[in-house]
Amino acid sequence: MSARAAILVAAILASPLPAFAGSSVPAAESSAAPLQAIPVDLRVPFAPVPVAAEGRRHLVYELHLTNMAAAPLELERLEVLDPSGAVVAAYEGEALKGVLARPGTPGLPDVRAIGGGLSAVAFIDVIAPATGAPPAALTHRLMFRPVTPANAPSAQSRVDGGRVVVSRERPPLLGPPLRGGGWVASHALSNDSVHRRSLITVEGAARISQRFAIDWTRIGPDGQVFRGDPADNAHWTPWNAQVLAVAGGVVVERADGVPENDPTADAKAVPITVDNATGDHLVIDIGGGLYVTYAHLRPGSLRVALGQKVRRGQVIAALGNSGKSDAPHLHLQLTDGPAPLASEGLPLVFERFGLQGHLPSLKVLADGTGWRASEPVQERRGETPVLNAVAAFPER
Ligand SMILES: [Zn+2]
Repeated sequence: MSARAAILVAAILASPLPAFAGSSVPAAESSAAPLQAIPVDLRVPFAPVPVAAEGRRHLVYELHLTNMAAAPLELERLEVLDPSGAVVAAYEGEALKGVLARPGTPGLPDVRAIGGGLSAVAFIDVIAPATGAPPAALTHRLMFRPVTPANAPSAQSRVDGGRVVVSRERPPLLGPPLRGGGWVASHALSNDSVHRRSLITVEGAARISQRFAIDWTRIGPDGQVFRGDPADNAHWTPWNAQVLAVAGGVVVERADGVPENDPTADAKAVPITVDNATGDHLVIDIGGGLYVTYAHLRPGSLRVALGQKVRRGQVIAALGNSGKSDAPHLHLQLTDGPAPLASEGLPLVFERFGLQGHLPSLKVLADGTGWRASEPVQERRGETPVLNAVAAFPER
């Protein structure tokens, strides 16, 4: 036994933890690498489902980290590795701060310092050209400011773990949710959209049902999202547009009667709760364990009943501004369960759509600058729109 191994064994025997009681310490005499004893627990609760957007493939998921000991840990670098050991994404400095969230502990001076017993969530988006097969699995290498963990003989800085098998599921190809052009995919695919970061804890689990959700709003031929007084929902270009079923299925949840909000008012028409946040809405079971939610619909516009079978392309409701909604839009999401909040979000992949361009930001709609397409429409197939892409669907 080496001196180093002897110290490790002594430390383990002196520990009050029963984990190794009665067992030998096989790593000490083997060729295996020394134990990485930094007390951080790494988990990926939901495996990435690959999705293509504008010719690139995204693997979007979260790595949950918990500091299981009392002393603080300082994360310095986070790498994502494929099975060959190649680094496919890396975050440090400001980029690392940008992907880390600290649920329940807002206002921290530096999100990278993880106190004893505390946790962090890293929002990861591994981007690569959409050619060839995605990696079969991903693992993580975390570099911490060197610490000497209890039971370890010397200072350490590295932990490898949080291996996740990349999903082989391919989301269904969806039909158009709306008709015509000028549809802005707001809060769509991006690693920091409000949907992407909506980690909601209900029914005993923290999940992101809106991971790939899209808030569809519309620019009119005049380049504007509203005309006249914006307090009137009817002055908004997208308002009352016919909403189409993106896939056939059965209506499993239906809510109607939540009044619409005044887009200029801070307060909503009704106090918002987890039950009415989606406003007037429909959830349609499209088979294969998948569900599509159509939220913030116009009250009184729902054309389908609970339990009714719908076909792809059928008009099911009209776009509105009910529930937790600031202005008329259609919130569309695909999930692995029927509960709009208590499910995991999956990519919305459209069989085809016309890409008319990209809005620089939603500000151009709010401040009256407006936006007009200046490039020829590109046909995109089998992709999800990226944040603020402007999409055209068939008129009929
Ligand atoms: Zn939304």
